[in-house]
Amino acid sequence: MYDLVIIGAGPAGATLARAVGRQYRVLLVDKRADPAETGSPYGKCCGGLLAPDAQKALARMGAALPREALVGPQILTVRAMDLPAGRERFYQRFYINVDRGKFDRWLISLVPPSVEMRFGCRFAGMEREGASYRLHLYREQRRETVRTRVVVGADGASSRVRRWAFPRSPGPRCYLALQERYYAAKALPYFSAIFDPEITDFYAWTIPKEGSLLLGAALFPGKTAAAKFALLKKKLVSRGYCLDQLIRRESALILRPSRCAHLLTGREGMLLIGEAAGWISPSSAEGLSYAFTSAAAAAKALAEGLTAAPERYRRLTAPLKRTVLLKNIKAPFIYTPPLRRLIMASGLSSMKMDNG
Ligand SMILES: Cc1cc2nc3c(=O)[nH]c(=O)nc-3n(C[C@H](O)[C@H](O)[C@H](O)COP(=O)(O)OP(=O)(O)OC[C@H]3O[C@@H](n4cnc5c(N)ncnc54)[C@H](O)[C@@H]3O)c2cc1C
Repeated sequence: MYDLVIIGAGPAGATLARAVGRQYRVLLVDKRADPAETGSPYGKCCGGLLAPDAQKALARMGAALPREALVGPQILTVRAMDLPAGRERFYQRFYINVDRGKFDRWLISLVPPSVEMRFGCRFAGMEREGASYRLHLYREQRRETVRTRVVVGADGASSRVRRWAFPRSPGPRCYLALQERYYAAKALPYFSAIFDPEITDFYAWTIPKEGSLLLGAALFPGKTAAAKFALLKKKLVSRGYCLDQLIRRESALILRPSRCAHLLTGREGMLLIGEAAGWISPSSAEGLSYAFTSAAAAAKALAEGLTAAPERYRRLTAPLKRTVLLKNIKAPFIYTPPLRRLIMASGLSSMKMDNG
């Protein structure tokens, strides 16, 4: 019997395992192959930008980023582009540009050896058995069953643990993020945030990554997504972006919580952390700070014992819930075209580039 089984070894799950791994008997499982063994240079489909809040959360954990997790260039500027209005503005921002595959590998390397880790191991379902849970896991087509006192769902935007625990709760709006990586001889010195309601009511982006450029968009999922992404590429090529040599195409889901009911922290014997709980910014899709902060709150709740930990975690994440809801107040200023145009026209908080 485990004290804790954590489903998902992404930033949220790995952070929690690191924090509680010496206090409890912990199993950490992930359906991905062991990142230390695959040899694949790529990680989760992600922009890999550590925003100031994520940097602060890492700093609070006493973590220092290793050089191998970084990727050039380090970005100081956001270029906001309103395509239909033909307007753009530059803003100073301080991101750390990371290689998401190496970053996740580093987080996993911090998990203490006392934690049992199983990669290539998929969580399929569970049932309550008295005061514990019986979990069904699949590894190489073989079914395994494990028992645990507490389950933690850290399995990201399409969380199966969340669906199992709250089958009738309304989920947040869900976008399909398509992302392509292109060879880029010359690095663009900024992160572009691209707005165009003909493509999406959220946003698209380009991010330079050492010799390549990521182009991504958060799209309405369904049949139109591929066509909208093609249209975005056409519009950017006509604006001078070079998207000739494709290296890689990937996709993932992004949640966009807008109500309290979209943020689910858990129930008896179970906690949801990271994006599985709905923790992500609805205005920027920045999710790494939420993954770290929710994992730290879960660790604090569990440090006092397993009993009543979900209730303590719910209370500890009340400020995070307020942050998500406040971001929803900010979002219309970015995503309602007339308001965005007004703000961009005013030049508020923007900077003039020396080359005009
Ligand atoms: C295209 C894109 C770009 C983004 N860019 C940024 C950015 O630049 N900066 C930022 O801060 N945020 C960004 N985000 C958001 C960020 O990636 C997520 O919010 C963050 O990864 C959430 O961390 P997590 O640990 O909760 O979940 P995840 O990172 O999704 O990890 C979940 C883990 O659970 C595992 N898993 C899932 N299901 C199962 C199962 N059934 N059994 C076992 N294991 C399972 C997965 O393999 C995965 O390893 C982006 C998201 C997308 C999609």
